[in-house]
Amino acid sequence: MASEKIWLSSPHMGNNEQKFVSEAFDTNWIAPLGPHVNNFEADLQSYNKIDHAAALSSGTAALHLALILNDVEPGDLVFVQSFTFSATVNPIIYQGATPVFIDSEKDSWNMCPIHLENAISSALKGEIHPRPVGTPASGEQPQTTIGKPKCIMPVHLYGMPANMEAIMAIAKKYNLPVIEDAAESLGSTYQGVATGTLGDMGVYSFNGNKIITTSGGGALVSNDKGQIEKARFLATQARDAAPHYQHSHIGYNYRMSNVLAGIGRGQMQVLDERVAQRRANYFKYKEYFEAKNKEGYNVKLQNEPKGSFSNRWLTAIEMNPNENKGVSTLNIMDAFAQDNIESRPLWKPMHLQPIFERYPFVGDGTCQRLFETGLCLPSGSSLSDKDFERIVAVLDSCFQ
Ligand SMILES: *Cc1c(COP(=O)(O)O)cnc(C)c1O
Repeated sequence: MASEKIWLSSPHMGNNEQKFVSEAFDTNWIAPLGPHVNNFEADLQSYNKIDHAAALSSGTAALHLALILNDVEPGDLVFVQSFTFSATVNPIIYQGATPVFIDSEKDSWNMCPIHLENAISSALKGEIHPRPVGTPASGEQPQTTIGKPKCIMPVHLYGMPANMEAIMAIAKKYNLPVIEDAAESLGSTYQGVATGTLGDMGVYSFNGNKIITTSGGGALVSNDKGQIEKARFLATQARDAAPHYQHSHIGYNYRMSNVLAGIGRGQMQVLDERVAQRRANYFKYKEYFEAKNKEGYNVKLQNEPKGSFSNRWLTAIEMNPNENKGVSTLNIMDAFAQDNIESRPLWKPMHLQPIFERYPFVGDGTCQRLFETGLCLPSGSSLSDKDFERIVAVLDSCFQ
């Protein structure tokens, strides 16, 4: 029978999560508000050195509220990293706005500042038009309205910080707010500052596969008190202050439950430990591939540019079969699957997704190449030495 499954990234509880959850039961705080929610928000604020945090039902909900709070509307253009998970982009469509996909740079694999600036200046010249959602590409009418640049969304993919210094300089030059998708990068820093706190707003995710989890959840952070208060208001059905149910805004049911925030409080206590464990995985893989590269292979790992500290949520490699004696990442993925080990290609860029391919893209093919030649390796913080032995045995069978 096959050995026990090794996952790409599995939840890893500490010692106190259950205690916090029991406390919620014991005090009957089984609601989307309560002391755990407040304390979890305080934990996130102090860990990331940011003034305000709203705990929400998911990272996707946090991204959606961030766009609403920045007045993203139909006809607007949102400059978003193409190399990401679909949840970064879906809320742009919820708002009826147009994503303008920006390619990656080779260094961080994240949003390329050069392509970003090219895209913004093209948009300002009226060369990028919004496209109506739901219109098939073939039957599309030529657009005459000019898309209005509204905001910039870089992503810190696999935990690696994007080139924020350059991106923030462009944002300042064109006076555009920056929403950071830090869903994968809690615990990562850029020039000593937490990812998610470098732009105007940041988003974290506590989905089950992330570095820490609340089973499902997310957070929106900012130094702007008014915006985070408004996020909490919109996330609880936008109820006006009145004894009856009174509404003057469209609301959402996006708050995190007090029970799940209890899990989050326990997880925050072990976050630094989880970062250390994930980074240790990365260094084991690095040592392994450096040895292989001395034998004539050329496997590249996602680099940590100077000034960046990655939580190494997932260790990702890139390898061209032509430089690796014909071995491809698909060979490795298949070999892992044979031994019940999960691995996954790098995320397929959004501009190549059937649902998004009709939206504008500015780039040179970097993230497409990453997708075609890259692989995410098992990276959970609970990987044991025995698990690593199995992983190495499979890799050895590929790199003979
Ligand atoms: C997981 C993830 C999200 C969405 O977070 P959820 O909490 O699952 O809604 C958004 N962006 C990126 C890059 C992610 O990895």
